[in-house]
Amino acid sequence: MEISGFKEALKSREENGVKVSTISTDRHPQIVKELRVSNPEKHHKFDPWHVAKGVYKKLAIVAKRKDCEGLGEWIPSIVNHLWWSAQTCEGDAEVLKEKWVSLIYHVTSRHDWPGNRHYHRCAHEPLDEQSERRKLWLSPESEAHNALVRTVKDKRLLKDLDHLTKCIHTTTLEGYHSMFLKYLPKRINFGYDVMVHASMLAALDHNNANRERRHLEIYKRAKVKVSTQLFANCNMNVINTVVSSVVIFIQTVYYTHNFYTTDTYIIQQILEVM
Ligand SMILES: [Zn+2]
Repeated sequence: MEISGFKEALKSREENGVKVSTISTDRHPQIVKELRVSNPEKHHKFDPWHVAKGVYKKLAIVAKRKDCEGLGEWIPSIVNHLWWSAQTCEGDAEVLKEKWVSLIYHVTSRHDWPGNRHYHRCAHEPLDEQSERRKLWLSPESEAHNALVRTVKDKRLLKDLDHLTKCIHTTTLEGYHSMFLKYLPKRINFGYDVMVHASMLAALDHNNANRERRHLEIYKRAKVKVSTQLFANCNMNVINTVVSSVVIFIQTVYYTHNFYTTDTYIIQQILEVM
C-alpha cells in the first residue's frame, strides 16, 4: 500500500513539473529499494525522528535487563545526541558517524579518544567537579556499556546514518496528517471523491494554520525589534501601530511573491467541482 502510494505521489509531482532531487521518508524497506533501484539519481534521506525512535526502543528494551542498570538514565541524552550529530555534520556521513559513536566514550566520562579522522573530543565545555560527580557514568566493559556499544555500532544503524546527513525531518508533514485525520477519520469509509476533496480541505486548513503561526512569529519578532531598538521610550500604543504596519508590509511582500500558490490551486480545484 505504502509503496504504491509513494510511486503514485512521486509520479504525479514530476508530471506536474516538480523537480524532485531529495526525498525524506521513514525506513520503509520497499521505499528504500524503490529509490535505490528506480531513482538512483535522487538523494534518499530518512527522517531522523524515525531513526531516533528505533534507537530509543532498542535501548529501552536493553535497559530493562537487571545487568544493564544505569543505561536507562542515558537514553534521552543518547537520542538528543543522535539529533545533534545529524544537525551538525554539515552533510558529511563520516563526521556524523564519528560524532554518533563518540557517545560510547562520553558515557564512561572519557571526553577524548584516538583514531577518528574528524571528531576527536566532545564538543561540550569541560565538566565542573559537581557535574562530574552527579553524572551516572557507565563503567567501561560493564554489561550496560557493552550493550550500548553493540546498539551504537549496529551495522544497519550505521548504514542508516548515511541517510541522515541532511537532517530533513517531516514534522510539518506529520502535522498535516493530524489535520487530515480530522477531515477523514480512519474508522469511516469514504468514497474516492470525498477523499480527494476532504484532502484539499485538510491542506487548506493546514496551510492556514501555518500561515497564522508564521505571522504570529513575524509579529513577535518585529515587536521585540521595534520596542527594544527604535522606540525604547514610547508607549505601547505607538509601538503596536508601528509593528502592525511592519507586519502588513511583510505580508504584502509574501503575497506579491506568490508564496501561497498552493492554496490558490486548491481553491480553484474545489470551485471546479462545485
Ligand atoms: Zn563528553
